[in-house]
Amino acid sequence: MVEFAGRGKIVILSGPSGVGKSTVRRLLLERAPVPLVRSVSVTTRPPRPEERDGVDYYFLTPEEFARRKVAGDFLECFQIFGGHWYGTLREEVERHLRAGRWVLLEIDVQGASQVMAIYPEAVSIFLLPPSLEELKHRLTQRGTEDAFSANERLARATQELKFANHYRYQVVNDNLDDVVNQIREILKAEAGLSN
Ligand code: 5GP
Repeated sequence: MVEFAGRGKIVILSGPSGVGKSTVRRLLLERAPVPLVRSVSVTTRPPRPEERDGVDYYFLTPEEFARRKVAGDFLECFQIFGGHWYGTLREEVERHLRAGRWVLLEIDVQGASQVMAIYPEAVSIFLLPPSLEELKHRLTQRGTEDAFSANERLARATQELKFANHYRYQVVNDNLDDVVNQIREILKAEAGLSN
């Protein structure tokens, strides 16, 4: 991995539920051509069995979350699916940028537009499904890991897709290796690296 002098950059990754964001994120962190780290978000939703506090998210009670919101600790925060709160900590992002690291934010479209307004130089990437049919298929296969029906997830995904052109880059996730390679190329270009 190449080391960079000076500040790093923010990389925003968004896409509808079911598009495969977390798998892409995991591989991208392993294969990034720049010193890329993930910003750990804060949420009020309960941890899933495999999730660890401070690694997957910082899990806070709604009261603790509200306190940090009032204290101005969040770069952005939103209530998603009209239920749980999610937020990106200002200090979590800034400390990586100061250290010259690039910071990956895997956040929803509302949070992304707020971050883009604050950091217009952020590298924003929207992950698209190969087709709406394929997305429907993936959402119905997904099981009931949350309280929302496949129909509700699909309605929300369709809404989120409308935001794709607000992002600097749109990448179609039809093959995992291809999509990760395309994002690698985007990051190389943004870093001014030639191959
Ligand atoms: P999950 O509960 O499945 O981990 O995440 C649900 C949604 O929350 C995903 O679309 C994810 O991108 C979004 N999300 C995760 N962390 C944040 C955050 O810090 N801010 C915002 N705005 N959205 C987030």
